[in-house]
Amino acid sequence: MAGHPFAHPIGVHVGPGLTDENELLGGGPLATAAAMDADGVQIFLTDPQSYANPKPRPDADDLRASDVMVVVHAPYMLNVATTNNRIRVPGRKLLAAHAKAAAEVGAYGLVVHGGHVLAADDPAIGVDNWRKTFAYQEKDGGFPLPLLLENTAGGGNAMTRDLDAIGRLWEAIGEHGAGFVLDTCHAWAAGWDLATAVDDLRAITGRIDLVHLNNSRDPHGSSRDRHAPLSEGEIPTELLVEVACSADCPVILETPGDRPAHAEEINMLRTALG
Ligand SMILES: [Zn+2]
Repeated sequence: MAGHPFAHPIGVHVGPGLTDENELLGGGPLATAAAMDADGVQIFLTDPQSYANPKPRPDADDLRASDVMVVVHAPYMLNVATTNNRIRVPGRKLLAAHAKAAAEVGAYGLVVHGGHVLAADDPAIGVDNWRKTFAYQEKDGGFPLPLLLENTAGGGNAMTRDLDAIGRLWEAIGEHGAGFVLDTCHAWAAGWDLATAVDDLRAITGRIDLVHLNNSRDPHGSSRDRHAPLSEGEIPTELLVEVACSADCPVILETPGDRPAHAEEINMLRTALG
């Protein structure tokens, strides 16, 4: 990642910008960022529902050299916390593969959900499985870029839904250099107080590396994960701006909308953040 022209890079989650043949489509994510005047992009390196290993991207050198901040999001179903070793072990391998590929495009970090254990499981096992994920990787030289764990909207026995669970997880993995992504829609769904979320989280993790700034279509505490445009959901827009401001870190929008709508959201935020 090269130096950014803005103190608070504001980016958007965009499509991979590749054809099925792994060829660049319409200039790829960098062209999309330029069209929205975004400072950053977040991309998946594979179908987010798939266990496929990422392929080298044809624009890897351009992404790495660009001033545009690149964030990579790991597949959704990856769950390194689970007690089921037929899910956990392939998940760990997939995480390592995505981390390697994300480093090759010069990514700022690799976003990964905290995962969960089953209702009958002891959450402490999930926490220890996360610790082992870092420990195993360290035998192999460690992750080549920061792993950014994201808070999730719902689910019982989730590793990163509630602040106290995040606290237990951080006691086990904080020393391994894990970073954190605060998703405002997920925090709202999980019933957090967004007015104090940044301070509450920082008191636990000591850091917030990225904000996924999203509004929510659902009421506070609903456990539902349906993102809304910044000015159209149940969360007061001023509260979202306050979170972005106090987090004082890069922002990625995962809001529904076309490029002009995202350009407008970026513009609104940039003005608000000064
Ligand atoms: Zn998110």
